Amino acid sequence: MLSCDKCGERAVYLRRYSGQRFCEEHFLSYFEAKVRRTLSGGKMIERGDVVAVGLSGGKDSLTTLYLLSKMRERLALGLHAIAVDEGIKAYRKETLAAAEAFCSARKIPLSTVSVEKRYGFALDEAVKVGKNKACTYCGVLRRKLLNEKALELGANKLAMGHNLDDEVQAIMMNYISGDVARVARYASEAMVRGLVRRIKPLGDMPEKEVALYAHLRDLEASFEECPYTGDSRRFEVRSWLNAMEEESPGIKYSILRGYQKLLPHLGTVESRDIRWCKKCGDISSNAKCKACSLVAEVKKYLLDQEIG
Ligand code: SF4
Ligand code: ZN
Repeated sequence: MLSCDKCGERAVYLRRYSGQRFCEEHFLSYFEAKVRRTLSGGKMIERGDVVAVGLSGGKDSLTTLYLLSKMRERLALGLHAIAVDEGIKAYRKETLAAAEAFCSARKIPLSTVSVEKRYGFALDEAVKVGKNKACTYCGVLRRKLLNEKALELGANKLAMGHNLDDEVQAIMMNYISGDVARVARYASEAMVRGLVRRIKPLGDMPEKEVALYAHLRDLEASFEECPYTGDSRRFEVRSWLNAMEEESPGIKYSILRGYQKLLPHLGTVESRDIRWCKKCGDISSNAKCKACSLVAEVKKYLLDQEIG
């Protein structure tokens, strides 16, 4: 039996990249302390902030909301949860139910925003007629709706559940596509006019650790998998990163740290590239922002279909 390095109790987790072993109690306190360090190091949360949390009903977003709700009183935080219904049949129903149950048990106000109500089509329809992948429509529109709702709620921070694995996947995908402006914008976009500052309290926590934390805390997350998951390039990048981590524990951290070191050198790329969408006024790298272009594209195809 493996035992905890701190107290000798039965270990529930071996952190391969450092060799440390944790019992349940010491794992929970290590996890919470590390998230607190991420929050204070990145000046992510300040006293009196109004924080909106993007809630999908999965383990990452529930853990994020749970941790922030633990700090709510001490830091006099205003806390709201926002769930996005993208219109993915047979998937969102379950995850939205998990989000609702979680919020009502903790008296956290939850707003649900729907892609279909906002744009007149569900994600499933967009995927049928559009030329882009499901995750492109989903990611761009969800981001836009979350920001709009957070602004409406008067939030000054928008907390997302992204963990270390998500962050590293996003970084690698931007590198792979050679999109330098995007690489530069990814971390600092949040400081820009019209966007609520996005924070990622779990950005330093490996997915495995978040899963264990949510399990040990009995957070009732939905494990429903999106039917479009397999579509994405992200899925391949994810498997590749996991294989590398298996070979060389800690490699995800070194990718993240390398990226953080690179960012200050990319400032000029970023400021040259920022424009404002002619249609909606949001940040954009073209005359029309990505959300407005995607919506126009889908609407055109839907109209063609009706006529044809
Ligand atoms: Fe959206 Fe893609 Fe995630 Fe499904 S897998 S919820 S389509 S981003
Ligand atoms: Zn726009």
